Amino acid sequence: MPSRLFGLIAAAGSGTRFGGGSHGAPPKQYADIGGRPLLWHAINALLADRRIETVFVALSPEDERFRQCDCSAFGARLAPLYCGGATRKESVLNGLIAASSAIDLDDWVLVHDAARPCLAKDDLARLIETLMDDEVGGILATPVADTVKRGDAGGRIVSTERRESLWLAQTPQMFRHGTLIRAMERAGAITDEAAAVEALGLKPKLVAGAISNFKVTYPGDLALARTLLGVAPEGKA
Ligand code: C5P
Repeated sequence: MPSRLFGLIAAAGSGTRFGGGSHGAPPKQYADIGGRPLLWHAINALLADRRIETVFVALSPEDERFRQCDCSAFGARLAPLYCGGATRKESVLNGLIAASSAIDLDDWVLVHDAARPCLAKDDLARLIETLMDDEVGGILATPVADTVKRGDAGGRIVSTERRESLWLAQTPQMFRHGTLIRAMERAGAITDEAAAVEALGLKPKLVAGAISNFKVTYPGDLALARTLLGVAPEGKA
């Protein structure tokens, strides 16, 4: 039987750099973009590819906002899991384990950040088509275009780094369910799934994607996300 495709969105963070969770502000994944939460757009982007059977969402066990979102458009292809952990890695691993009854070890899982609402349909399709028959799997990424500086604590340049062969890792990151669980269970502190797979001695593939698939990190990033998604600026209907 051919391998099936599933999505897993990490959505259990509080978005500290974004100001989420403090002074009653919603966590980043619930910031408003055109009347819908950021997370809704990330789910919508993954489910736009009909080859993805189900998108699981790893939410904080304390999450009370998800139930209030109107996700009816996604029907049974969306499956929330209240299994988030203290770090992104824990949330992803908990989600992979919680979804185990639905996903076979050979099936592909595309792990995606809730904070990347602008994933383009053609980049997602290219990722899937490039990796479907791959032994290892891989990630969307963009080659570094700017000159790279290393700075010190005082904000002064210490050195200029060679940018050749440097890439910025994005999500989705597409690996087989069994490989991912094995890799994540062994990994130490990591900030993406590819790092865990690399630590197994494997070489995930870099699939070039657009910089528009950026991670919303600071409050000022929301305006760019709204523009890219073609929704009205905040406060304008
Ligand atoms: O904080 P950062 O933007 O790097 O988080 C990337 C993604 O990981 C976000 O979608 C966030 O919700 C998720 N995350 C998580 N569980 C955590 C921390 C972050 O699912 N404990």
